[in-house]
Amino acid sequence: MNFATYDKEYVIGIDLHGTLLNEDWLISSADVTKLIEILEQIKRYATILIITGNDLHFVQEHVPESLYKLIDGFILENGVVFSDGVKEITIATKEEIEIIKSLEKELKAKQDRDILFFARRLGSISMFTRNKSEGVLPNKLYSKIVKLLENHPVNKQIFVTHSDVAVDIVPFGYTKWTAIERMFNDKKIIAIADSYNDWDFLYRADHPFMPNNCSSKIEEAFAAHNKKVLPMTEYKGLNPQSGVFKSALNNTAGVIEILEKLIINFKKHK
Ligand SMILES: [Mg+2]
Repeated sequence: MNFATYDKEYVIGIDLHGTLLNEDWLISSADVTKLIEILEQIKRYATILIITGNDLHFVQEHVPESLYKLIDGFILENGVVFSDGVKEITIATKEEIEIIKSLEKELKAKQDRDILFFARRLGSISMFTRNKSEGVLPNKLYSKIVKLLENHPVNKQIFVTHSDVAVDIVPFGYTKWTAIERMFNDKKIIAIADSYNDWDFLYRADHPFMPNNCSSKIEEAFAAHNKKVLPMTEYKGLNPQSGVFKSALNNTAGVIEILEKLIINFKKHK
């Protein structure tokens, strides 16, 4: 992979579930058209990444080809895997992945009824409690898994998190943010994301944005760190500013709202 091609001053990382995808895990064809138009403009100023807990196969299934080919890179499995859209590369070490694989086996054997399925993963574990409109939020399973692993021998070597559809386990020290920092540490980072597994990615980004449907847990976390959640109308452009900005619209429509505001500011900034 040639990282030297990522030469823009800004990097925009967009989350998938609860952000780019709507409640039915889709992007409507009208929104695909709008997003293509926006991304073609915004690519002049920024590298576009999809940053997700999912694997590349899931992204390819849910992001239409015409849109997919405009994405410059993919941070997958909550920061454990990177892809240029073709190849998947694990960032975690072989030993770290071995621990995850053996824990996955152990959790599968428990056959917890809250888990709809274990998704395909290269270096993490992903237990889905929701499948589109079916199933329940992962909060209950999250608490159960945290408690279950409290005294487990590998407890210190793993990290448990969740999105709005799944509980994920990654090797300790890997998050969406650690991956972005490792690869893009000299760039200005714009984060667009909605849930708990996006926390440090949103908190540490230069410009954090959330769709209106973002989790209340992440809003509380920002409040606890004295960061205000502000409406998009308060966004003053690309100069450093405090606060996190929340769109008026939900998921895909919210992403479009945020990207349109960014284009205006990129053009002004030039
Ligand atoms: Mg999400």
